[in-house]
Amino acid sequence: MRYDVIVLGAGIVGVSAALHLQSRGRSVCLIDRRSPGEETSYGNAGLIERASVIPYAMPRQFSALLRYGLNRSPDVRYRLAHLPKMSTWLFQYWLHSSSKRLLEATNAMLPLIERCVTEHDELIDRAELTHLLRRSGWIETFSTSEGKKKALSAAKDVERYGLNYDILDAAELKAREPHLLDSPIGAIHWRDPTTVSDPEALTKGYVALFMKRGGRFASGDARSLSQSGQDWIVATEEGLVTAAEVVVALGPWSDQIFKPLGYRIPLAVKRGYHMHYGAKGEAKLNQPVLDFEGGYVLTPMSKGIRLTTGVELAGFDAPQDARQLDHAEAMARNLFPLAERVEPKPWLGRRPCLPDMRPVIGEAPRHKGLWFNFGHAHHGLTLGPVTGRLLAEMMTGEETFCDPSPYRADRF
Ligand SMILES: Cc1cc2nc3c(=O)[nH]c(=O)nc-3n(C[C@H](O)[C@H](O)[C@H](O)COP(=O)(O)OP(=O)(O)OC[C@H]3O[C@@H](n4cnc5c(N)ncnc54)[C@H](O)[C@@H]3O)c2cc1C
Repeated sequence: MRYDVIVLGAGIVGVSAALHLQSRGRSVCLIDRRSPGEETSYGNAGLIERASVIPYAMPRQFSALLRYGLNRSPDVRYRLAHLPKMSTWLFQYWLHSSSKRLLEATNAMLPLIERCVTEHDELIDRAELTHLLRRSGWIETFSTSEGKKKALSAAKDVERYGLNYDILDAAELKAREPHLLDSPIGAIHWRDPTTVSDPEALTKGYVALFMKRGGRFASGDARSLSQSGQDWIVATEEGLVTAAEVVVALGPWSDQIFKPLGYRIPLAVKRGYHMHYGAKGEAKLNQPVLDFEGGYVLTPMSKGIRLTTGVELAGFDAPQDARQLDHAEAMARNLFPLAERVEPKPWLGRRPCLPDMRPVIGEAPRHKGLWFNFGHAHHGLTLGPVTGRLLAEMMTGEETFCDPSPYRADRF
């Protein structure tokens, strides 16, 4: 089985790259060890986050560090035993979070964020998935005057990027989300982002479009990747697949390929949980709601109301710890009339993160035909299609819509 390109990883990032390569005339085989879209691209909050123009930096104010240090914040938790293993990465992250470097990261990410909604729109249209899409943005609530001050000041910081948002008092919030309980004193309604009611169905729908247009999906383990002369070869259930070019889009597992090939790229994971809930009585949520103080999101999804937590810093495969989700759930029950949990066990996922808050997109410096597209951190759902376009433009020698150098693999 010979193709022009093999794409390893059928999450939102891999399938988007596969679609963009295919529309430029490349024959593509997409390979995953599971069915498409069943890992990180399944469990997220469903935001196509046009409003996140400033990447999520590490807080540098003493008060915030102290608060996180106490390890009782619902938005960020850590396992003490894991911190020494992550210390070099955290130090780099801290360095990149200075105001000067954060501005560099913001400028680097802006061309991607600016196009994220239109790039999804194009694929959603072609894949006939508009029933999954909401165009009503998302709402950020605050319950204390301190929270209000911080949320409004953060909104002011992004004013220069021309985002559309409404500041709501409690009554205006109630008009937009009538079933919220009385804890919020106000909110910001971010209008530019779109959201989806089922990120897994979106990813699978993109794969269906890819296959309808002649693409091949095969089950196989990316770790079987080998090189023979000019060719890259992967073993799949249907036999060996060969191509001159291969794309690593394995999200948090991408190091399984780049590490053995000798690349020292500082990929780490920020873990996160989700759980679905019923709603009491006739209660309904119209769009995702983020609790500013709690750092969790409630999103109306096809399986129920999905609560996604903030960040947990723990080993890749460390066992689940119930505390972060339990804490967020207790707060969420004051925000919305949640009923019982739908699943017996929370979902656990891993955001693939680089310390300079931008992904790795481009050719591997020392291996011809090996391409990287991973590390989309908190915004992989948002950025899948737009980074797929950029990668495909680079691979086919087209003029790229933005300067790809901030994402190159040899920047570390
Ligand atoms: C709690 C939480 C909430 C989030 N909310 C949002 C949000 O609202 N908006 C947003 O934009 N982003 C959000 N994210 C981030 C987003 O989900 C990720 O950045 C994105 O899904 C990464 O996509 P990916 O395709 O790179 O990785 P994945 O979806 O993980 O895909 C990688 C694929 O590689 C496959 N794979 C791994 N190892 C192998 C192997 N050896 N062989 C073959 N296949 C393999 C896996 O099976 C998987 O299908 C959230 C993340 C979390 C954890």
